[in-house]
Amino acid sequence: MSPTDPTTRGPATSGEEVLLRAHGLSKSFGELSVLRSIDLTVTKGEVVVLIGPSGSGKTTVLRSLNGLETPDGGTLTFAGGPDLDFSRPLPKRDRMALRDRSAMVFQQHNLFPHRTVLENVIEGPVHVQGVRRDEAVAAAEQLLDRVGLRDKRDVYPFQLSGGQQQRVGIVRALALRPSLLLFDEPTSALDPELVGEVLAVIKELADEGWTMVVVTHEVSFARAAADEVLFMDQGVIVERATPEQMFTRPQHERTRRFLDRIL
Ligand code: ADP
Repeated sequence: MSPTDPTTRGPATSGEEVLLRAHGLSKSFGELSVLRSIDLTVTKGEVVVLIGPSGSGKTTVLRSLNGLETPDGGTLTFAGGPDLDFSRPLPKRDRMALRDRSAMVFQQHNLFPHRTVLENVIEGPVHVQGVRRDEAVAAAEQLLDRVGLRDKRDVYPFQLSGGQQQRVGIVRALALRPSLLLFDEPTSALDPELVGEVLAVIKELADEGWTMVVVTHEVSFARAAADEVLFMDQGVIVERATPEQMFTRPQHERTRRFLDRIL
């Protein structure tokens, strides 16, 4: 699953090419303003880690990038795609195209309990993307092999450990061949001893050049994998910095207060 691997179209091929640009994203739920003019640029191959207190809007940012949530305002553009302007109703075609660009890994793996690992992985490619079943199976086997789970292809999710389930969740996202991977606290539901194996897979994907936005409070992961760390609070990106700067010399008082609690 290297950048030249034909089973993927995701990983970066060159340096500073912009993959997505979001400008002024805003979102309210009733009276609650959850995103307030979020600007975000992600270049190909970049790993962006999003941190911030619970309720600050991190998940809503991911869901907006993925088309699961529709912002009330602002613009979003993926390389080669249309400029999406959320101040107007989006054409259905644009909404579908947005879904196709990224794949999300959730806090809970969300696997179908009555389907085998393999069936879970090929579900999206076959039923949503129209990939031929034999091709989807071959690609799924390769991806499962890649995360050390080839021998689990025919078992059911309940027969796997939490860490293995989450690795299948990652494979399921990869099988969609997105250009962007979104991780929403991928290890926060795991027992502590299972966190490492999942972070190791994500780190390997980052090293291979996958572009990703990761919501996590795992500081050691962020230090090792992130190109940029964003601190969000109350719907605003308060601070953007390299991991080194963010975790050792945060500039804002709100960032310092938050880091004091998690470090
Ligand atoms: P975080 O990921 O940082 O914890 P979220 O993006 O999940 O934050 O949520 C931000 C705020 O928006 C929270 O106050 C949350 O309760 C609220 N919220 C999120 N989704 C909805 C929704 N569908 N309806 C109403 N409020 C929501």
